Amino acid sequence: DIPVICIDGPTASGKGTLAAAVADALGYVLLDSGALYRATGLAAQWDGVADTDEPALARLAGLLDLRFGHGPEGSRAWLRGREVSEQLRTEEAGLRASRISALPAVRHALQDLQLAFRRAPGLVADGRDMGTVIFPAAPLKVYLTASAATRATRRHKQLISKGIPASIDDLRADLEARDARDKNRAVAPLKPAEDAYLLDNSDLSVEDSVQQVLSWWQG
Ligand code: C5P
Repeated sequence: DIPVICIDGPTASGKGTLAAAVADALGYVLLDSGALYRATGLAAQWDGVADTDEPALARLAGLLDLRFGHGPEGSRAWLRGREVSEQLRTEEAGLRASRISALPAVRHALQDLQLAFRRAPGLVADGRDMGTVIFPAAPLKVYLTASAATRATRRHKQLISKGIPASIDDLRADLEARDARDKNRAVAPLKPAEDAYLLDNSDLSVEDSVQQVLSWWQG
């Protein structure tokens, strides 16, 4: 039985960083499920498919030609053979992903792709519904949070370090809008699984959070 560790939580809570570090420490496969929604949105943009065209978006999601790999600067992604690592991380891509991820047919179309990431020796899955919908039997589920102010400040630092100008207030408004949409949607709303451990990392270093998850895992 291949174990899965789920790390869910709101936008910019540090899930991606934590999940990658835990996967690295354990030698597990990593699933960045948000990237699948972001890539579907990008494919739609390339093909001129509207954010509201549910059947066409679901078709794109079901045929998603997305590959992940590692480069010197961390994880890379290719969509239809084109490197899209940077494009997937933009605020615009996040907002589009958030809109299309509310569509049930899109979520359904991405389900098998997500399940296929479960490979030996184990999987760390990062997203919004890993523990509640995709891997409900996972032996460890973590729900990661941080205050909106902390999350906006972190996102701001990330963007500034890449030379992308941004306002903390705008970023905070964007992430609160995305959280509200994720929490209020009809399918797979963002919420902790009943058996999830809650981890607020507002005042924790990445290393502290990694150690906490590993100690839960090692029980
Ligand atoms: O995690 P990330 O910011 O990359 O996700 C982008 C958007 O995709 C989120 O705002 C959320 O609306 C959606 N998403 C989702 N379910 C997941 C992962 C992401 O609905 N498992």
